[in-house]
Amino acid sequence: MSFKLQTLGFVLLLTIQVLNQASASTEDLAPQYQKFNKDLGTNPQQVLSDMALIAVPPENTHLKAQHHYTLSLAYLTLAYPQKSLTEANLALDNLAENQADWLYHSIMVVKTQAMELSGQAKEALPLIKQTVEWATENNNKELLIDALVGLGYIENTLREPVKALDAFMQAYELAPSKDAIVTKSAIASSIALVYEYRKENELAIPYFQEAVDYHRASKNLLELSIALYGLGRANKNIGKSELGTNQLQESLDISRAIADDQGVAYALKELAPLHFENDRIDLAESMLIEAAELFELSENNFMLFDVYKTLTELYLKKNDIINAQLNLDQAKRYLNQERMPMQSIGLEEIESKLLASQGQYQLAFNQLINTVGKKQKLQAQQSTRQLHELRTQFELEEQANANLLLSQENAVQKLNLTKEKQQNQILIIAIIATTVIVLLLLLLALKSRKQKQLLFQSANFDSLTRLANRSYIWQQLDQYHQQLKSQQTIYLAMLDLDHFKQINDQLGHDVGDQVLQAMGKICQQNIQPPNLVGRFGGEEFLLAFIDIEYSEIHTIIENIRQQAKRINIKNDLQCPTIGFSVGIATCKADDSLKEKIKVADLAMYEAKNTGRNKTVSSQL
Ligand code: GH3
Ligand code: MG
Ligand code: MG
Repeated sequence: MSFKLQTLGFVLLLTIQVLNQASASTEDLAPQYQKFNKDLGTNPQQVLSDMALIAVPPENTHLKAQHHYTLSLAYLTLAYPQKSLTEANLALDNLAENQADWLYHSIMVVKTQAMELSGQAKEALPLIKQTVEWATENNNKELLIDALVGLGYIENTLREPVKALDAFMQAYELAPSKDAIVTKSAIASSIALVYEYRKENELAIPYFQEAVDYHRASKNLLELSIALYGLGRANKNIGKSELGTNQLQESLDISRAIADDQGVAYALKELAPLHFENDRIDLAESMLIEAAELFELSENNFMLFDVYKTLTELYLKKNDIINAQLNLDQAKRYLNQERMPMQSIGLEEIESKLLASQGQYQLAFNQLINTVGKKQKLQAQQSTRQLHELRTQFELEEQANANLLLSQENAVQKLNLTKEKQQNQILIIAIIATTVIVLLLLLLALKSRKQKQLLFQSANFDSLTRLANRSYIWQQLDQYHQQLKSQQTIYLAMLDLDHFKQINDQLGHDVGDQVLQAMGKICQQNIQPPNLVGRFGGEEFLLAFIDIEYSEIHTIIENIRQQAKRINIKNDLQCPTIGFSVGIATCKADDSLKEKIKVADLAMYEAKNTGRNKTVSSQL
């Protein structure tokens, strides 16, 4: 018995179920269609009959679109995917071109499901994804839930159970627990379906149970029958035959009560093998015959194949060769060799049994050998494919890991670069700061040095003539005198300008100042170190000659006298010729410096008293 076919049938049934609930944005529909949508959950057949009585004004295209949309939903609910698809396309025809609003996307949810059930899942996938995107962008939660459920079914059909589960789980998270058309419990059935499809029945059961409990409480009979069907099947698959039978029977009873003929067919198809296994062969036979009739109505080829195949087996068991052959031929009619290779082999096995029952042992043997060969080949193909899929999966994961590693490395590198950059910046800042500090310190040092110099200058030098002042020349002289060797001599020359008062009186104090400055300059130019010169008083200058020939002193003083003569402030003709009187004293190491300066002073006064503008050397 093939469970695969039953699973496919189940997908169809459950899809219809959720889509019936998934009449998105019902609030935006015209009131009559809102009601129809609601009633689809309980009595879809009645909705179809009622809708046949409605006349839609041909000029109202929007209403016509809603009409076809509701019909499309009704057919899908009743498991007529071809009719549903036709109605969905009619609905779309009545929408203005490029009109991508809620109605368009609601129709697309139904259309893509009808496409999926008609074997166009691949084509439906991009369309439903567009609707998911639109609902997300437009914040239409209700439609988004419906579209995600639709996407889940399509992914499941395309053998992408992980993606399917992902879509269902997203919808499950978004859906409210109650007071809505699509609740968590409704989606629970969809999640259960994927688990069942993956043969993970244990995982599927709690979700089916959630859906059953919810629909039982809310008295949604159609939904309840479908959830019971899923739960019964899952329990049957894990070996809980009795529990499964009861649940499937309840599903069957409800489907009959609400005239859901396809629901009846699915439940019968599932129950029959259970009775068959328990030797209630006649009951199983009548159930399968009824199921076949109902599946003929919906042109459900997958299920028809499976029902006829099961009937063939049943008749073989009954040893009813004629009916077995008839049903085998029927099963072959609905067999799609390409899409159902495993089922094809299963049928061939039954055929060989039938041939054997007919006494055609050689043919039966050949058929069996042929079938075994095909089976082995197919299994090998499948395991190669699985291996390939696994390898692709592994390679993808490996690639993902490599990418992750690479991005981590990049991040670390980026971090290091940033760190390095920061360190460089800190270094630059530190260098700049240090440079600034050093410069500031230098500046400070220079400033303080300059200040010191200024202080030294102002303390030791005369501001007018820039010569050493009285105390400084004393200090310098004293140092020289202390280091003076016994045979060495210092000549002290006291120089006083003659009649200087007159200059001040006649030409003004400023001119007097300028004369003093000019005199200072002349002295400075003529007295070279180690010889010293300083301003000793108002218009008095002290010259000190250290270890020098006496004649040389005279030459220097006479040079100064000649230059002083030429001092003429502002070419003033009235400016008198500058002359001066000089008194010279000799000072030895043992002499008192103070005394000797006095001696020089006295000699200078002698020069004054004996005619001025001359030099007198003291003999003391
Ligand atoms: P003698 O030939 O006898 O030395 O006559 P004198 O006029 O040079 O001497 P006296 O002592 O009578 O006068 C000195 C004058 O020098 C008085 C004072 O006003 C002037 N003097 C002193 N210091 C300065 C100064 O810094 N600037 C000016 N312009 N005059 C000064
Ligand atoms: Mg004087
Ligand atoms: Mg004087």
